[in-house]
Amino acid sequence: GREIRLASRPVGEPELANFELADIDIPTIGDEQVLVRNTWMSVDPYMRGRMNDVESYLPPFQLDAPLEGGAVGEVVASRSDAVPAGATVSHFLGWRDFAVVDAADATVLDTTIAPAEAYLGALGLTGLTAYAAVTEVTPVRSGDVVFVSAAAGAVGSIAGQLARTFGASRVIGSAGGPAKTTKLVEQFGFDAAIDYRAGSIEKQLAELAPDGIDLYVDNVGGDHLEAAIGAMRAGGRIAMVGSISGYNATGPVPGPRDFFRAQFKSLTLRGMIVTDYLHLLPEYVAMAAPWLVDGSLRTETTVYTGLDQAPAALLGVLNGSNVGKMLVRLGD
Ligand code: NDP
Repeated sequence: GREIRLASRPVGEPELANFELADIDIPTIGDEQVLVRNTWMSVDPYMRGRMNDVESYLPPFQLDAPLEGGAVGEVVASRSDAVPAGATVSHFLGWRDFAVVDAADATVLDTTIAPAEAYLGALGLTGLTAYAAVTEVTPVRSGDVVFVSAAAGAVGSIAGQLARTFGASRVIGSAGGPAKTTKLVEQFGFDAAIDYRAGSIEKQLAELAPDGIDLYVDNVGGDHLEAAIGAMRAGGRIAMVGSISGYNATGPVPGPRDFFRAQFKSLTLRGMIVTDYLHLLPEYVAMAAPWLVDGSLRTETTVYTGLDQAPAALLGVLNGSNVGKMLVRLGD
């Protein structure tokens, strides 16, 4: 088997040289463990943070050790009754062909309702993040005007659709470039789209939501957060889901100027970590799986093929090469 290791820590934007593909012997398993042949792995912006040697909500990746992250695969050997050989499972030891997973950390997937890789995207933590944001963190209210950033991405494309499902009257998304903004409207059901590269976010928001916005799902931070605070109506709410504009920063990232507007507009800004909402995953999957099947929830994936392409996929998700969920398909 092979695994991708962290060869060096990036300064600023990561480079392919920060990663190393290593050949290893296929590991053996102990009691209550399973050997999983990974078939798909998730590629997520938060992984950039784990490449830094800093204290955060997840420990940093270690130098010369394999990276980690969400993956699905087939159990090829098992020493656990709960997770038999042949099962398809999800777990958190991606970035390698074969993973030794404690049975307690493997979730057996029902691949009759959706393909395995859907559990890394719309039916996994990606979808749950969007669901938690608009139903629990800052619940959407009937008639809300909603703004979503990184809206053509994995979380954003689902958050926009769920916001409408749960009562928004108008949903505006922002993304980089005309191909993505067209998709927002034609494919993901947004009412209007902002190309943040084409001009001022603030001006475009003022045109598309002249009476302001009520709810902002923030995946970007920085310039987007500043513009959203400016456009918020009194009592507006902001779900602080991510801040990707700052993930490659080498120093303090710029925050919103005129932040005091949050005070006199009586705004609520609330952060979240999806793992605090895992208890909602079963109800969310039960609700969303039929929507995927009947097409009422539209999703897209961007797939890189081969473990050796995983570093390029991580660089890609950070610079916007993806529409929808970024995945790596591992050899079969
Ligand atoms: P996406 O699929 O949205 O991919 C990231 C996207 O961010 C890119 O496609 C790119 O799209 C956009 N982007 C990159 N740099 C910038 C920038 N400087 N300004 C504006 N947009 C930028 O990834 P995910 O859906 O997985 O994640 C979206 C956000 O949600 C991230 O911030 C992530 O960290 C966060 N997140 C948080 C979780 C939590 O528990 N709080 C859980 C999961 C995700 P474009 O071409 O439009 O620029």
